[in-house]
Amino acid sequence: MGITDAHCHTASGESRSFLCSPFALPQPSNAVLFHGTHPWYLDGFDADRLKADLSADPSAGVGEIGLDRLKDRTISTRMRQIFEAQLEIAAEFGRPVVLHGAKCWGEVVKACRPYTGRIPAFLFHGFSRSDGLIPDIVALNGYISVGPSLLNGHAVNYRALAKRIPLDRLLVESDRTPENETSAPSVDEVAALLAGLRAMTLDALAATLEANADRFSPASSQR
Ligand SMILES: [Zn+2]
Repeated sequence: MGITDAHCHTASGESRSFLCSPFALPQPSNAVLFHGTHPWYLDGFDADRLKADLSADPSAGVGEIGLDRLKDRTISTRMRQIFEAQLEIAAEFGRPVVLHGAKCWGEVVKACRPYTGRIPAFLFHGFSRSDGLIPDIVALNGYISVGPSLLNGHAVNYRALAKRIPLDRLLVESDRTPENETSAPSVDEVAALLAGLRAMTLDALAATLEANADRFSPASSQR
């Protein structure tokens, strides 16, 4: 079937995947790489290396970058500065961005707004509990990827959110890491459930998801 995994940290190689750094293992050829420093690992940030990685690979994007309130209630100045520095680099190179915004999606949207049009597209990965922001995300040329939480039968609010995301903004993700690789559900399982929720056939949904992934992909951002 071949549905693109819009966000993961390890690639299975079965279908295209948007793979966020770090890249510890050799990557399959259908992995699209996203280079960046996650807000949990700020010590690894190196602006020159990010620029070099983007220069070396015209088909790479920037990610996973953002803000976080999961580990600490406050967003530090340093976290903000490193996020903004990476947004600036993404704008300079004209590459799409994969965003992290656990418990602070409103802050992430605010930080991205000045880059509307300068950064070709944004992916809101792991997005939840912030339905009110959907119009702002659309205005940024943002996409929202739905993940394995959908398979949890108790995730009533998350399923309601997944039904409300505009069809042309929708992607699916596994958020697989080398640690959960063997146990994490695949995007095919997520897509099968999502098709039922959206009252679509799996084929129709899969075609839509692929068209969306093509538009978000760094390859389509090249001018
Ligand atoms: Zn992730």
